[in-house]
Amino acid sequence: MMDQTYIDNSHYSEIKILKEEVELLQERVCHLRQKIDHLQRHCKHLFLETAGMRECQKCGFSESTYY
Ligand SMILES: [Zn+2]
Repeated sequence: MMDQTYIDNSHYSEIKILKEEVELLQERVCHLRQKIDHLQRHCKHLFLETAGMRECQKCGFSESTYY
């Protein structure tokens, strides 16, 4: 039974580490989204138009051209 206990403990600490990593990555994703948002708002868009929408070649911002 000692082995079982050992496995449980190691899983527990692995989960703890993974959760911390997820939190760090979520913070990073949030930061990167803000950065993208900032860049898209300050980009002088260079649009490539396709059927029904256009996409900026510089920042990837896209919008529908159907109004
Ligand atoms: Zn752009």
